[in-house]
Amino acid sequence: MYHCIVVGAGPAGSAAAARLAQAGVRVLLLEKHILPRYKACAGAVSGRALNWLNLDFLPVVEDVISRVKVQWAKGDPQPVEYVSASPIAYLVMRSSFDNLLAQQAAAAGAELHDGETVKSIQVTEDFVEVRSAQSVYQAKVIIGADGACGVVAKQTGLYVPRASGIALEIEAELPGDELRNWRSTVLVSYGIPQHGYAWLFPKAQTASIGMGTFMTRRRGFLAEFAEFTASLGVDVEQQDLKAHPIPLGGRDRRFCRPRVLLAGDAAGLTDPLSGEGIAHALHSGSLAANHALAALESGDFSMAAYQTAIEEEINSQLKAAGRLAAIFYAYPKFFSHLFTTRHEVLQWYFELVQGQREYRDVWDLVKKLLAARKVPSLNTH
Ligand SMILES: Cc1cc2nc3c(=O)[nH]c(=O)nc-3n(C[C@H](O)[C@H](O)[C@H](O)COP(=O)(O)OP(=O)(O)OC[C@H]3O[C@@H](n4cnc5c(N)ncnc54)[C@H](O)[C@@H]3O)c2cc1C
Repeated sequence: MYHCIVVGAGPAGSAAAARLAQAGVRVLLLEKHILPRYKACAGAVSGRALNWLNLDFLPVVEDVISRVKVQWAKGDPQPVEYVSASPIAYLVMRSSFDNLLAQQAAAAGAELHDGETVKSIQVTEDFVEVRSAQSVYQAKVIIGADGACGVVAKQTGLYVPRASGIALEIEAELPGDELRNWRSTVLVSYGIPQHGYAWLFPKAQTASIGMGTFMTRRRGFLAEFAEFTASLGVDVEQQDLKAHPIPLGGRDRRFCRPRVLLAGDAAGLTDPLSGEGIAHALHSGSLAANHALAALESGDFSMAAYQTAIEEEINSQLKAAGRLAAIFYAYPKFFSHLFTTRHEVLQWYFELVQGQREYRDVWDLVKKLLAARKVPSLNTH
């Protein structure tokens, strides 16, 4: 019997498996794809994520972002620029980044089985039984880190239906040597789609071009995306288009039950303002491992403390992000005006991404800002 089975070798699962293996417990990490595997993602590893990465990932970094062009798609297409003295984000291809994390877990002693899909889970009073396409395993605890459509949440009654936005993405070659013009720079375009944004994030060989909406309304979404890619000289019909759900965080929900812990997208921990999820996946994966270790040591497998930890450390922040998103996407023109006229507002937004500000604090400032209908001094850290 394993001490813990982790399902899914994305950032959440590999972070959990690495932590468990480092603590010396017997851990099995099951991943349905053969690694390295493609994952639709802009691949921005934020400053917030760095706090939870304890490995050298520079070998897989494709670009370091210090400049953001912010565009208001419905009006003046002239973007405003935000330039930061310190990196805003590190861009990776998720195939290489996730593979690095999984190999780190394996090197620490986790038994990694890739190409093995988990089919069913049965939770008993004393253990968890996991059936994959190849075999049957037992463990004291299971961590579901199997992403937005995860089987663990679904089969243990923890899944929250219809709680997702959606994103489309292509990895495109840009015409001529356009890619070179985007070095160290990303494009973020607001206004279209509704309640979301579009982006171009440069990688070493291609550009990740995508569009995400954090609401369930999807009519016309593909046509809006085709228009955005066309504005960049890319015909979406020539591309391998991927769609993926964005499980929105900041909801009241269960993250665990006895012997079962969910982490990352499986727990619905994506930022409803920005769509960022890697940082919360790494953070929650590490928390899940700590709570599994505590349960193994104490013999108390209720996991109740994990619910509180996720709520306090992550979901409360995502609730504040959700409140900000509701206002930001309801009045995109107002915020785009602020972005153009008040540089501090952009600075303040990207300091959030860099992990230098907390959502709760920003929410308090936005409330004041809206009440006064003018921007307060935002230079107070
Ligand atoms: C288009 C797009 C762009 C994004 N861009 C960014 C970005 O730039 N920065 C950012 O921080 N976040 C971004 N996100 C969000 C981010 O991709 C996710 O939040 C993050 O991948 C969550 O990590 P995870 O480990 O929880 O899940 P995942 O990365 O989804 O990993 C889950 C793993 O579980 C495996 N799995 C699933 N089912 C099973 C099964 N039955 N058996 C075994 N294995 C299974 C999957 O194959 C997968 O490898 C983006 C999302 C989308 C859709």
